[in-house]
Amino acid sequence: MVVMKFGGTSVADAAAMRRVAEIVKTRIDKKPIVVVSAVGGLTDNLVALSKEAKNRNMTKVQEVVNVVTERHLKIVRDLGLDKNGSLVNVVTETAEQLKKVCTTISEAESMQKALVDELLSTGEYLSSHIMAAYLDSVGMNGVWADAREILVTDSVYGSAKPNIGESTEKAKAKLLPLVSDNKVPVIQGFIGRDKNGKITTLGRGGSDYTASLIGAMLDMEAVEIWSDVSGVLTADPSLVPEAKRILLMSFQEAAELAYFGAKVLHPATMHPAVDKGIPIYVLNSIYPEQGGTKIALSSDIAEDKICVVKSIAYKEGLTVVTVNSTRMLMAHGFMASIFQIFEKYNTSVDLVATSEVSVSVTIDNTEHLEEIKKEISAFATVGVVSNKAIVCLVGQHLKRTSGMPARIFGLLGDVRIHLISQGASEINISFVIDEVDLKRVIQRLHDHFFGNSYDVEIFAENN
Ligand code: ADP
Ligand code: ASP
Ligand code: MG
Repeated sequence: MVVMKFGGTSVADAAAMRRVAEIVKTRIDKKPIVVVSAVGGLTDNLVALSKEAKNRNMTKVQEVVNVVTERHLKIVRDLGLDKNGSLVNVVTETAEQLKKVCTTISEAESMQKALVDELLSTGEYLSSHIMAAYLDSVGMNGVWADAREILVTDSVYGSAKPNIGESTEKAKAKLLPLVSDNKVPVIQGFIGRDKNGKITTLGRGGSDYTASLIGAMLDMEAVEIWSDVSGVLTADPSLVPEAKRILLMSFQEAAELAYFGAKVLHPATMHPAVDKGIPIYVLNSIYPEQGGTKIALSSDIAEDKICVVKSIAYKEGLTVVTVNSTRMLMAHGFMASIFQIFEKYNTSVDLVATSEVSVSVTIDNTEHLEEIKKEISAFATVGVVSNKAIVCLVGQHLKRTSGMPARIFGLLGDVRIHLISQGASEINISFVIDEVDLKRVIQRLHDHFFGNSYDVEIFAENN
């Protein structure tokens, strides 16, 4: 069995959905399960919708609901599915449901995260219904499957964590009979349900994670992530158009890259797959013949296929919080009390650097920054600077290779570097710079490591 996940651009319109069907057909002997994202850009529309509802701008709410509905009805028509009454009903009834949720949001005192998740889930709900109906209409036995009946999660709305044991039981009970019956289940990425019966979401980009969870829960032979790029590249192609394709990389490398901003994979995607050693392939649904990237256990990668720098990632929009306390810093429990405060406000910390008298951390979620500052100020002084970016070089042999920091920072003599972190991970070197320097820093590093020549066993041109 294989699980095939198609992202937003891969299901953006009728032509894209037809391409998906062609691709799924090539895997039909492998008993595929299809995971879909919402049609491209829709989750952003739904986030905007929740804000309009919160601001009680009901005219705008109606407008957005109309746009969402019409977009899906057009795909239904373009795929020739408009005679399928129950599918058309799914779309129109979902529009009514969207309006109801928006009314509830508008009447609530504060933003209810559970309601936002319910709103966001409709994107995947609609795309999966259309995709299932289309696969069925072209003779591939597509059948809609409900992720909310399978993925049992905690109640952290917006970034829920699945309960693997319970979800596995449900996945086996709900999906395996369909597969044995030669059906192709089409299931929503990104969403699940908590113990209270409320819909949850796994965090933006979470459909990749759903796919690898299903792959691992059902012990599949491969997880395929179909996107609009031909694999994981040596850098974000929007910053470095000449970025190369990485043919083979380890789970750890992919996880670091995803964590440090390479949007092509959700950071949690690698966890379920690594536990079971199931390879993940990143492939292009627009140009499937181009091949992609295979992500595998590092023990499956021959020594000569490992190189020092595999890829360069970045994360923008970061804030550096620096805590100073000459008196307290080395005191027992001081660090713990700082991190507890970030934890209390659900604010995750990316990079940490300490000195004798200060500790600096980077955060990307500043929603609770004022509360955090206030609590830390009770026992130390706090400084905050924003508009920073982390740059992260990833490669299995980075730390083992002597002279790498000198080589990297030697290239960046004219760039202000705020924090450096190399110690924690074997395979990454990361540092914080001003956002304005990002493009030239990434381009310079890329030119240095991949510009002149590259190992054709590991990288390929991306075209
Ligand atoms: P999907 O909708 O299929 O999930 P995403 O937009 O989430 O696709 O991820 C694919 C995008 O990730 C690409 O279009 C590319 O712009 C971006 N990206 C950023 N860094 C990388 C990288 N190192 N390799 C490949 N793509 C990257
Ligand atoms: N539709 C969701 C998002 O845009 C999940 C995903 O695409 O993976 O974040
Ligand atoms: Mg994605």
